[in-house]
Amino acid sequence: MQIPVRKMSGSKRIALVAHDNKKIELIEWAVYNKTALSKHKLFGTGTTGGLVEAALGQSVSKFLSGPLGGDQQIGARIAEGKIDVLIFFWDPMEALPHDPDIKALLRLAVTWNIPFACDRATADFLLTSPLMFSDYDIIVPDYTQYAKRLDKPDQSIHSDLSPKQ
Ligand code: PGA
Repeated sequence: MQIPVRKMSGSKRIALVAHDNKKIELIEWAVYNKTALSKHKLFGTGTTGGLVEAALGQSVSKFLSGPLGGDQQIGARIAEGKIDVLIFFWDPMEALPHDPDIKALLRLAVTWNIPFACDRATADFLLTSPLMFSDYDIIVPDYTQYAKRLDKPDQSIHSDLSPKQ
């Protein structure tokens, strides 16, 4: 059986997101890792992306602010195979209005098997991995069966759904 993979190049497309109480921590982390990050293409939610861009002097492609849809934009790109790595410093001490979006983003990272870090220590381990700088065949989970689940609808189910006379 052939395992579906997607090729990641040595230069990764990294999405950066930090909640307000975590933004300073993310900026400190990014500045400390400026040289390593300069080898990659950076993306971010609106506010986080702007702060990282200013701190590093490196261009960051910015989506909308997280609560305005930025988390979902990043999630969509993960699903499309257009983001390779997610660094998401979310705040464990505060409920936020866009909690469902946060959960959705984390879910999509797992759904598509991308490397992601939600705290600084994990981000350090991730960014110092040799795989961050080399080509890598990432296994893309095969959802073919799921996508085709209703291709041949069971007639009994179908009839259950038809309007009752
Ligand atoms: P922000 O969004 O970078 O625009 O503040 C982050 C978030 O809360 O998801």
